[in-house]
Amino acid sequence: MSYDNLAGRTAVVTGAASGIGEAVAVLLADRGARVALLARRGERLEAVAGKIRANGGQALAVVADVTDEASVADAADRIHAEYGPVDLVVNAAGVMLPHPVEDRRADEWRRMLDTNVAGVLRIIGAFTEDLVNAAADGRTADLVNISSIAAHVSFPNYAVYGATKAAVTYLSESLRGEFGPRDVRVTNIEPGFVESELRTHITDAELSQEVEGMLDAVGALSAEELADLVAYATSRPRRVNLRQIVALPTRQA
Ligand code: NDP
Repeated sequence: MSYDNLAGRTAVVTGAASGIGEAVAVLLADRGARVALLARRGERLEAVAGKIRANGGQALAVVADVTDEASVADAADRIHAEYGPVDLVVNAAGVMLPHPVEDRRADEWRRMLDTNVAGVLRIIGAFTEDLVNAAADGRTADLVNISSIAAHVSFPNYAVYGATKAAVTYLSESLRGEFGPRDVRVTNIEPGFVESELRTHITDAELSQEVEGMLDAVGALSAEELADLVAYATSRPRRVNLRQIVALPTRQA
């Protein structure tokens, strides 16, 4: 059985400048959705949007910083002006900055909390009304949050990152209770290792080497494989809500 529930939809994808967000934006556009791409690097967004348009899709590059309330508000205004209300929101923007907690990297704690948790909330806040209205009009409405297996499995030195992802998983579960009765689906995705830029921001050389070693040992999913799961979940009939997807490389414990 296959469904095509993506054509004609209007999506917002954060973190669309690279990795999972980029792959999700490209695939949703390929399946017929109009996609607004959000991240901070305008050139990267334009390149992805250009690729989508070259393939006959519709894409809008919107520079935005999810840690900045005004920037998210401006982005939402621009999307509404160009595309009208949206019915599919994917929160993929995120950062992973590990350190032993006694290093007291308050700068990194703040950045992870503000991007991975408050940033997700800012985006949800900006588009909830659209999702609820779309569902009330009988259309399919989706909120997809990219959490992490780190929400459940603790890794030494990744305590704060894991805590931000546990918060995302909790938020997703809790929001299902608020949104489900109004026919808005909430899907929480917890990936294991995925090939992307995420680990390139690790500044501790030893921890960087450790993660490369783990990747060599178990491999990583491609961002496209993750995007395939997002497209699968959001293309089901509107009464089917895949609420939690845990996707690991087969060799990852
Ligand atoms: P990437 O680093 O490739 O992508 C992260 C994206 O987030 C980039 O496009 C970046 O663009 C954007 N971003 C970061 N900060 C901000 C900000 N303040 N405002 C707007 N956009 C921002 O990594 P992934 O694709 O791997 O990460 C996507 C999500 O998947 C993250 O939430 C991550 O935690 C999660 N995840 C990843 C796993 C992995 O192994 N890769 C495993 C489990 C979960 P820009 O810098 O231009 O803003």
